[in-house]
Amino acid sequence: MCAFERLVPEHVRRFEAYTPSRPDHELMRMYRVDHLHRLNNNENPLGPPPEAARIVRGFPPERVPIYPNGDAWDLRRILAGRFGLAPEQFVVGNGSCELISSVIKAFCTTGDSIVTADKTFAVYEWVAEFSGVEARLIPLRDFGFDGEGMLAARDARTKILFVCNPNNPTGTWWDTATLTRFLDRVNGEQIVVLDEAYAEYVDRHDFPHGIGLLDRYPNLVIFRTFSKMYALAGLRIGYLCGTQEVVDIIRRTHVVYSVNALAQQAAAAALHDDAAFIRQTREMVREGKGLLRELCDDLGLDMQCGEGNYVMIRVPEADTLIYRKLMARGIMIRTMTGFRFPGWIRVSVVQTPVMEEFRHALRAVVGGRR
Ligand SMILES: *Cc1c(COP(=O)(O)O)cnc(C)c1O
Repeated sequence: MCAFERLVPEHVRRFEAYTPSRPDHELMRMYRVDHLHRLNNNENPLGPPPEAARIVRGFPPERVPIYPNGDAWDLRRILAGRFGLAPEQFVVGNGSCELISSVIKAFCTTGDSIVTADKTFAVYEWVAEFSGVEARLIPLRDFGFDGEGMLAARDARTKILFVCNPNNPTGTWWDTATLTRFLDRVNGEQIVVLDEAYAEYVDRHDFPHGIGLLDRYPNLVIFRTFSKMYALAGLRIGYLCGTQEVVDIIRRTHVVYSVNALAQQAAAAALHDDAAFIRQTREMVREGKGLLRELCDDLGLDMQCGEGNYVMIRVPEADTLIYRKLMARGIMIRTMTGFRFPGWIRVSVVQTPVMEEFRHALRAVVGGRR
């Protein structure tokens, strides 16, 4: 018990810090491998798009001592033009993780609650809990978000409902009809955050365009990120948009100057003429999923494959053990025990040669058992 424990609020005392994975050089030393393929964070190995890559390469050192624009003025104008909204309807954050924090701070106080799924992006739950806000976690139904369950879990102190569409890690998604039915039932009583971190990967005519629903549902807040499709994860930049009224509230609890200058400029460039890049990335993911499907059929393993650049595979041993065995072969996947899916791994879908290497490694690791 440390001397400062008495200063710590109960909800912080209870909270266990998350330990991120070690840097590659350290992992390669630990597992005695000379290369490491990271299939654990759903990064896009092709990126960033050419124009953004050019900005990153050419960023002048003279700009480094200068503070960035405090609220991403230029980028918000570019986003506004693209989506047909006003620049004031956007908040740009240090990754969408920072925006999760800003939204929860804006609407919740100690004793309030948020509602989301039990097996989804964990940051909603984490930020709520270390802020003294209860996270009500509704079990997935058939791997997807259970709208009815979420509606039933609300009470007078529920402020925000988080829906991840498509869901990380299961890849399930709500179509437009399902989403609008849910929003009709919420009836403006809570803020609904629609996390579209993987929306650019989805090529389905009935996948909802959240931003297009803001007119009808002023309590809706859309999250997007440059970390996934646009391959700028290392620069940490994402954005939210909503109605003017809601965004004005969120802006109060959002730290200005949190987004660095290079990230702002690279993100703006990434949006420029991105269609070919998105097509190429989707093609890579389609091909990679095919290879993983073949592998799982062959090995008799269950695979949960939906939208997004990742799939889940049920493994015949502890996921943590499979992790170590794959690491010894230079491949890093995500264990799913932490997502409440023990016995599953999540694998990011990347270029064919690396998928082939993964197939070879997984066969060697579990193949002998079948
Ligand atoms: C990766 C991811 C994010 C993005 O986080 P950043 O902070 O923008 O890098 C947000 N939501 C989900 C569901 C994700 O998988």
